[in-house]
Amino acid sequence: MELYSGYINKLIEELSGLPGIGEKSASRLAFHLIHMPKAKVERLARTIVEAKEHVQYCRECYTLTDQEICLICANEKRDHTTIMVLENTRDLAAYEKTGKYEGVYHVLHGAISPMIGIGPSDLKLKELLQRLQGDIKEVIIATNSSLEGETTAMYISKLIKPTGVKVTRIASGVPVGGDLEYIDEVTLLRALEGRIEL
Ligand code: ZN
Repeated sequence: MELYSGYINKLIEELSGLPGIGEKSASRLAFHLIHMPKAKVERLARTIVEAKEHVQYCRECYTLTDQEICLICANEKRDHTTIMVLENTRDLAAYEKTGKYEGVYHVLHGAISPMIGIGPSDLKLKELLQRLQGDIKEVIIATNSSLEGETTAMYISKLIKPTGVKVTRIASGVPVGGDLEYIDEVTLLRALEGRIEL
């Protein structure tokens, strides 16, 4: 016997496919949504679709943005000769929040992970190499200190070395396996200032 209506079951199934949402949270959310006023549900649904339709990769740094070129890349006051390489847009936001980094970024959208079948060609690496053909003085690798992040950092440094561009890695004051976005600003800045040349 089905416990809930078919529609509720379908909703729970969709929600439980989201990261960090287990069966229990999914059913709690499903019932919450069902009890919400219809106008609110419609607004939520529209917001999701609109975000999906309008958010795109920045043509320069590949962060997610509403514009063709993100506000950071479009800012002429930023130092466009220093590129910080990050795993995702959330990590970029963490560094941006410190307000102390003046260079630009490059977002890989992931890290090398043979375990789940993510290889170098799944990341925005070709795009990074292309940017290095311009006037670039330093590439700061700020991938996470997880196994995947370290593997990615080593791979990138080997890739860039032959181009002669200076490659640095943020200091490992960052806790192992720690997601950059959860680390406080002081630790982030210390990691940036203590970066070492690879
Ligand atoms: Zn950009």
